Amino acid sequence: MSIASGLPEGFNPSNYDAIVVGAGYAGAVCARMLAEGSSFRVAVLERRNHIAGNAYDYVDEAGVLVHKYGPHIYHTFDDRVHQFLTRFTDFTDYQHKVLANIHGTLMPVPFNHQSLKLAFGDEKGERLYHKLIMTFGENKKVPILELRKLNDPELSEVADYVYENVFLHYTMKQWGKTPDQIDPEVMGRVPVFVGDDDRYFPQAPHQGMPAVSYTDMFEHMLDHDLISVFTDVDARDLLDVEQTSIKVCGQAYGGEIIYTGALDELFNMDLGALPYRTLDMQFETLDQDQFQPVGTVNYTVSEDFTRITEFKNMTGQVVPGKTTIMREYSKPYDPQSSQTPYYVINEPQNIELYKQYRERVRGLINFHVVGRLAEYRYYDMDGVVASALELSNKIISQQ
Ligand code: FAD
Ligand code: UDP
Repeated sequence: MSIASGLPEGFNPSNYDAIVVGAGYAGAVCARMLAEGSSFRVAVLERRNHIAGNAYDYVDEAGVLVHKYGPHIYHTFDDRVHQFLTRFTDFTDYQHKVLANIHGTLMPVPFNHQSLKLAFGDEKGERLYHKLIMTFGENKKVPILELRKLNDPELSEVADYVYENVFLHYTMKQWGKTPDQIDPEVMGRVPVFVGDDDRYFPQAPHQGMPAVSYTDMFEHMLDHDLISVFTDVDARDLLDVEQTSIKVCGQAYGGEIIYTGALDELFNMDLGALPYRTLDMQFETLDQDQFQPVGTVNYTVSEDFTRITEFKNMTGQVVPGKTTIMREYSKPYDPQSSQTPYYVINEPQNIELYKQYRERVRGLINFHVVGRLAEYRYYDMDGVVASALELSNKIISQQ
């Protein structure tokens, strides 16, 4: 692999069989797959000054490994994704735990057996727990919106408690809407868990943190003789999308183009901007060993921020006397600003707008869109890797 900042003088796209826009999961997985599977010469164009997309991590001034674009915890049920990624990194056996700060009491989220006892006392909590087992079975995930549909008065009390104290205010802060007003799949990401597993991703067979760092994993993934990475390059300056063809640097391009950026940006948002939520991430280094007992504490009834992450608790890094924490403040994304579009807003009118942009690239046979931005989907890392593996395999099989 080579990594260069900017394009070299005389950069000629015809020297590459594929151009990949973006060096996050979607782009890096495709670049690696196409270099290996089809012996493609691949140019990866990344407009930031680093690889790894939103999973980028680095060591801050205090010597603490932090995640620049929010806390990233690897977890997957998908063996193919795990097999692919473990070629480029080992994972620690870190199991992510989250506590909700509910009026000063820290309770496990997803709300589980232990949370019930903390909220309702041992005796009543135990009784409610058995009622939940009778209703749903043991070790089951129950979306809060499902729990709210029950008619049993005692279980309705549980549903009301969890709705009010775990979901309502956090969701208002994160999305500016109540849980009933947003996509039920988003709420379903954090179910109530009828069981004792107190991990944030109960039952996920593969979870952990990269043994060194995410950025290190990406360096290995992109480390291939046929891959050249160019950072600080905005691909929009090079690409011209026409009705049935696409030009790169003003020339017709016959290779494959993998685009992992936002689709509306490619067309200067001429049909309107796709809406997103963005985050203000406020990092703070403290002169103490540890700030909180777990990786993340969610502030579900108080504060303007949604959660505080303490990176050392996730990475296991030992840095005596110093720790770095990060608070997340959510707000609407302004496409005219330099903000990062972090979360897609999965609402019918936004999906409709996305489809209109997508329609405009449908006729371009060598142009492919993949990833959280390009597919306008609320993907976790493993979902993006799976999608990129699928696309690459399709391209490879057509050679
Ligand atoms: P990105 O990582 O956004 O990469 C796209 C890249 O393309 C970017 O580097 C961008 O600069 C570049 N690009 C865009 N347009 C252009 C252009 N015109 N020219 C050149 N380059 C361009 N997932 C998990 O599994 N676990 C977690 O704990 C987790 N936590 C998260 C926390 C937060 C706050 C957020 C926002 C996301 C989290 N995710 C998590 C999701 C994860 O970040 C994404 O699934 C993944 O990073 C998406 O990869 P991607 O390649 O699709 O997009
Ligand atoms: N959520 C909540 N309270 C919590 C945790 C999550 O209300 O304590 C809701 C909130 O709407 C959030 C969604 O569940 O946006 C998904 O949470 P997740 O932790 O998966 O979000 P992410 O890590 O992707 O920001």
